[in-house]
Amino acid sequence: MKTTLLLAFGLMSFFSNSQQIIDKCLSHKAIQYQESLTPGYIDQVNSVFARAKAHQSNYSQEKMNSLYTIPVVFHVVYNTAAQNIHDSVLINQIKVLNDDYNRLNADTVNMRSDFDGVAGSPRIEFRLAQIDEFGAPTTGITRTNTSTTSFGSIAAVTGSFADLEKVKSTADGGIDPWDQSRYLNIWVCNMSINFFGQEITALLGYATPPDGLPHWPAGATSGMSDGVVLQFQTVGTNNPNQIDMGNGLQNTLGRTATHEVGHYLGLRHIWGDGDCTAEDGIDDTPNADAESNFDCDDTKNTCVDNILGVDLPDMIENFMDYSADDCQNSFTQGQGDLMIGVLENERYDLVHNNPASIQNLDATDLSVFPNPTSNSITLTHKNNITEIRLIGMYGTTLSSTIPLQSGSTISLENYPAGVYFINYTSESGMVFSKRVVKQ
Ligand code: ZN
Ligand code: CA
Repeated sequence: MKTTLLLAFGLMSFFSNSQQIIDKCLSHKAIQYQESLTPGYIDQVNSVFARAKAHQSNYSQEKMNSLYTIPVVFHVVYNTAAQNIHDSVLINQIKVLNDDYNRLNADTVNMRSDFDGVAGSPRIEFRLAQIDEFGAPTTGITRTNTSTTSFGSIAAVTGSFADLEKVKSTADGGIDPWDQSRYLNIWVCNMSINFFGQEITALLGYATPPDGLPHWPAGATSGMSDGVVLQFQTVGTNNPNQIDMGNGLQNTLGRTATHEVGHYLGLRHIWGDGDCTAEDGIDDTPNADAESNFDCDDTKNTCVDNILGVDLPDMIENFMDYSADDCQNSFTQGQGDLMIGVLENERYDLVHNNPASIQNLDATDLSVFPNPTSNSITLTHKNNITEIRLIGMYGTTLSSTIPLQSGSTISLENYPAGVYFINYTSESGMVFSKRVVKQ
């Protein structure tokens, strides 16, 4: 991607407190906001999506052959000590992303069997950057103490992103992004809104979709800056700051990041931001006539569709719905393919020959021998691996071992010939993957 300052629209996860004062989603307003800055924007977004979708069927082979690794930098922008969330919470969020994008999340067992034929693993992994823009070692985390008490505002509710975007600018009380073609920038901050004297945590996060807008002026800075923004309480499953999502204070499961990164990689809301006639452009996601409103109602089938020959119920399990964190657990294969299409096009530099992703993996290095194999494989590795899983082609966990001695073997005897993956987790929660072929 040639531009570093991307102009793109935000898709807001947006909810109100129980009084339903505020809209749930600003994405439509965000598109209009961006269109007003740069006429023709909506057409460009639509054409980028169409191009990624047209390409998606080409990527099945590439997806089988590689694991896409995205370097992440977290920018923690805090006004209070509580907002300055600990490294362990950010590392935990990386693990949630890796679990969700590799179908390793334990709660896939809660997905209704209706969706067995469509659920899939995007096979995308996330790593905290270990090398910064200038080639120096980094933790992949920046911390900025700001005098801005909140980047949210009433103006944000009415469709202007100008205040929110200040978190992405050092001059405006936030912090400038790292090279957006090589890092996924995730800002973590406070976006609560003062609503007639009451502090309302109304915005969970927003993301910019893939940029593919070649006609835009180079260096344009009038629009939105590429990346993801998260309300600080939504990060990780071990965040000491709880959040009220309408059911009282509780911990989140880190799924706001999963959802927003989905937008960043080109996905739209599963209900298509409209009624049954609007759709998300993905063939294997059921239509719905509206978002699921943070509930987990598994009785709903609001639109008639035909996927694999059946009319599927509304997929509240999908990460791109607005169901509660604890009923989301899956992407579909079509959604995974579209995201790979984006990584092969609009976000190519993020995952190909990217110096930012070069890692010293000595501590967790794992070898698999023989490969290809006709029966069993032997795994050798250093000490600090906490879990090893054998994964089938569509992300199903076939077996799991904790802990596993270096030099142990895993038998593939009972599985058909094909491609498998050994996913292993380091002590810091990072998930790595090796491809294994059974002949
Ligand atoms: Zn969204
Ligand atoms: Ca249906």
